[in-house]
Amino acid sequence: MKSLKNKPENILVCVAWPYVNGEPHLGHIAGNNLPADIFARYHRMAGNNVLMVSGSDQHGTPVTIRAKEENTTPKEISEKYHNIWSETFKDLDFSFDLYTKTGTENHKEVVQKLFNLLNEKGYLQEKVSKQPYSEESEMFLSDRYIEGDCPHCPSRTKGDQCDNCGKDFEPIDLKNLISTIDNSKVTFKETNHIYLKLPEFQEDLNKWIKSKSYWKPAVKNQSLGFLSKGLIDRAITRDIDWGVEVPIKNYEKKRIYVWFEAVIGYLSASIEWAESDKNISNNKDIWKEWWQNPESKHFYFQGKDNIPFHTIILPAILMGSGEYNLPYDVVANEYLNFSGKQFSKSKNWAVWVSDFLKEYDSEALRYYLTSIMPESSDSDFTWDSFFESNNNELVATFGNLVNRIQSLIKNNFDNVVPNFEKIDDKDNEMISEIKRSYESTGNFLEKRQFRNSLKEIMNLAKLGNRYIDQKEPWATIKSDKQIAANTLWVGANLISNLGVLISPFLPKTSLKISSMFNFGNVIPEWKYREAKSGIKINNISPLFKKIEIEK
Ligand SMILES: [Zn+2]
Repeated sequence: MKSLKNKPENILVCVAWPYVNGEPHLGHIAGNNLPADIFARYHRMAGNNVLMVSGSDQHGTPVTIRAKEENTTPKEISEKYHNIWSETFKDLDFSFDLYTKTGTENHKEVVQKLFNLLNEKGYLQEKVSKQPYSEESEMFLSDRYIEGDCPHCPSRTKGDQCDNCGKDFEPIDLKNLISTIDNSKVTFKETNHIYLKLPEFQEDLNKWIKSKSYWKPAVKNQSLGFLSKGLIDRAITRDIDWGVEVPIKNYEKKRIYVWFEAVIGYLSASIEWAESDKNISNNKDIWKEWWQNPESKHFYFQGKDNIPFHTIILPAILMGSGEYNLPYDVVANEYLNFSGKQFSKSKNWAVWVSDFLKEYDSEALRYYLTSIMPESSDSDFTWDSFFESNNNELVATFGNLVNRIQSLIKNNFDNVVPNFEKIDDKDNEMISEIKRSYESTGNFLEKRQFRNSLKEIMNLAKLGNRYIDQKEPWATIKSDKQIAANTLWVGANLISNLGVLISPFLPKTSLKISSMFNFGNVIPEWKYREAKSGIKINNISPLFKKIEIEK
């Protein structure tokens, strides 16, 4: 089988670092965490060496603003939300090898080391520039906290790009500029900063991205578009007192800019994991197998707004270091909307994961979000389609198949997988379909096509229901018991293998099915799992609950 290679591959699964100034909503989950988890689970089952890391991005201005609003410190705010995100990920069974945060001593050391390395190699440069400043709050203002008249059209706008006409500008070109933090007039003040010389990487990045034939067109095109405008030196320090300290003299009051340090989190998290007791190998340098062994593959699961950070900025930093592997793929998704409008933390238009899980099961959520995953275009969460997906697909197709076969074996064969004898063409065909599903589902998963892979499994469940309908074991049990036995032996194997195939998507359901056959409480390997004749079956409660819809 294609997925079971002789030599295990080293697969690094990197998931976007959430900004912890608020709670996670369903958009965060569908966009990158869920596909990353399915991908990591599949590769572990296929025998590969998977390391899946992420963490909370605790730094940056939004956290300091939120802290002011809640009358506390940035540290407390970011710790509070870090804990909420960590708990949510556990509730959803995300299988991170390490979910950490940027506030650790380890992250600081790794970032500063890389900063110094780039400095030694001549990729950093100090420059003086005039930056927006609020006299009232006595602070420099990042682009997102200034608002003024667009120099190109008659509208008010924020940042460095007009919301209305889409044109770029320098903040200093905006008229009637105010600070959105305190509504005071913005002045410009000279300040010195360290810049990353991105233009030095322009040519190599261009060649590297063009060679990525298997990237999603949206990812490749956005990255090449970004490059075609010409890279410019980017400041990697900020006038702020919350973040990673700049490891050079006279920068004691400044911090490293979040976009530079957060993307280094994948590396620092890998090192932290290797040095922790979560690493059972006793080799503290094992992270190098993923970061320095040229045969390893890095997959970055991101939202589309983060593409250039992972196709341009991070690769430039890694190229500059000369020490680490570049991304193999940046698996960026489009957006999940909520009833037609974009999820928005700031506009409070969202379904919060914690609220959702108070009412509904995490497996139903994982199933539904995978089935509508915004892989190549935006998709829409609606309550009606969630109820339909749960009731018509999970309950009526998958759950019902398991139920039927389980009760037929219970009522007619004393809860024991029956013996088979002289199975017919239909039986053989069904077994072949099961075996084929490993290949088709696995192929889609390896290509990061999660909706298609889930569809393969549901198609197998539909085929299974049709097979049982056609074989009518409730009738043959009276006419020829061996025929019924053959059908239910096939049925038992159908359930056993659906339990394996569904494991990356619905891990709890998979374990329940394992317990049905006494296969033990471990994640199965990605291969045909026989339910042998004579195995005693433990009755399990229905896998999924129907949701009663109030009209
Ligand atoms: Zn404009």
